[in-house]
Amino acid sequence: SVRVRFCPSPTGNPHVGLVRTALFNWAFARHNGGTLVFRIEDTDSARDSEESYDQLLDAMRWLGFDWDEGPEIGGPHAPYRQSQRMDIYADVARRLHEAGHAYHCYCSTEELDARREAARAAGKPSGYDGHCRNLTDDQIAVYKLEKREPILRFRMPDRTIAFDDLVRGTLTFEPENVPDYGIVRANGAPLYTLVNPVDDALMGITHVLRGEDLLSSTPRQIALYAALAEIGVGNGTTPRFGHLPYVMGEGNKKLSKRDPQASLNLYRERGFIPEGLLNYLSLLGWSLSADDDLFSTEQLVAAFDIADVNANPARFDLKKCEHINAEHLRRLAPEEFVRRLVPYLQAPGLLPAEPSAEQLELLAKVAPLTQERMVVLSEIVNMAGFLFVDPAGFAVDPDDAAKVLTADARPVLEASIKALEALADFTPEPIQAALREALVDGLGIKPKFAFTPLRVAVTGRRVSPPLFESMELLGRPETLRRLSAALA
Ligand code: GLU
Repeated sequence: SVRVRFCPSPTGNPHVGLVRTALFNWAFARHNGGTLVFRIEDTDSARDSEESYDQLLDAMRWLGFDWDEGPEIGGPHAPYRQSQRMDIYADVARRLHEAGHAYHCYCSTEELDARREAARAAGKPSGYDGHCRNLTDDQIAVYKLEKREPILRFRMPDRTIAFDDLVRGTLTFEPENVPDYGIVRANGAPLYTLVNPVDDALMGITHVLRGEDLLSSTPRQIALYAALAEIGVGNGTTPRFGHLPYVMGEGNKKLSKRDPQASLNLYRERGFIPEGLLNYLSLLGWSLSADDDLFSTEQLVAAFDIADVNANPARFDLKKCEHINAEHLRRLAPEEFVRRLVPYLQAPGLLPAEPSAEQLELLAKVAPLTQERMVVLSEIVNMAGFLFVDPAGFAVDPDDAAKVLTADARPVLEASIKALEALADFTPEPIQAALREALVDGLGIKPKFAFTPLRVAVTGRRVSPPLFESMELLGRPETLRRLSAALA
């Protein structure tokens, strides 16, 4: 049965490349009725942080991913944090060494650098040159006398390594391009190069779907799997590999983790929703069909096939991501849309941590007026903040005020106040009729111009939900107060 893994390192903030990798693994597992193992690769104590770990878990939950083995739920291969598996790696390293699959390398960084430079200058391959592959006991004794601390280096077999990449087809690597590589540091710390394949072997991983940036480690890992099988670590099978295409950002450069455009938190803060984000991120290398870019996560899972992933670099297109998010916002059921808006009004303090029933009712009334016009949820602040702001804190956008609330607006505001004061029924249709009569018929102003000053005075902006509904929701006293305030 299919067993895949998502195994990020807890460094920095979650980014879109990471999310796409998680998504493809999750969709692949779910589509195939397989198992998703969530593993934390935190063996680099200098770079890993607990804060980043918490963010990773929070991001996975927010996106709606579930996993079958991993943090918080455990599983048959626990623990799933590599920092808690150090004795396993020490044991495997020792056995690899004893079996001759790895050797102590005493070369210093300076020596390695100097030889690499020389090889480069001579136009030869500049990877590790095998210097310590077959040291004699005497040479080792000398290095020990010199108090050199060796690293453990994996001995690559002298053969061509080929594999059938699930995305790219057959890939072939010649031995001179895949030199021996370090697997344990001089201080005993195991490296990614060791712990990642060891855990994939022990956890019975059948498919490795990961970014193209890791392609160069695949032939090394395939050789390591063979060695692990020989010494009896894991069940002896090598997973299939599929390398997901690069994601390109601005200026057609690879989107880096540090690029602000790559930060998942940023998308969350702006109010992308998981449905929209996952839909868009899946398009970075995959598509449901040639003519339909808009689909649900369920549709994605039902259709997902790694064979359909495209090897070409994918371009991250923010406009398209926004467009897709807007479509998913429109598809939310009204109550659900309201529920998702709440945190975005809480963030700037427009709603308290525990909103009252009246506040939620007001939100439920204004939400449908905004749902069709919104790209990201945080827009609710500008669109409907005027309803939630404490009256003393209400202020008109200064730009809009300067452009719209000019001397010309005075007669409009005055006539409106009069018309609205006299109105028996303060609901949208009568409001509209009364204002039309006062402004369009009475003052002879074109409707297009008549209502803009009112909109700015009442909602604070030129762009708002429909004006007459907004006035009704705000109520007559506050509407009149704001119209008068705009006169001052
Ligand atoms: N911890 C590695 C990373 O985050 C995992 C790479 C892999 O999928 O093999 O880059």
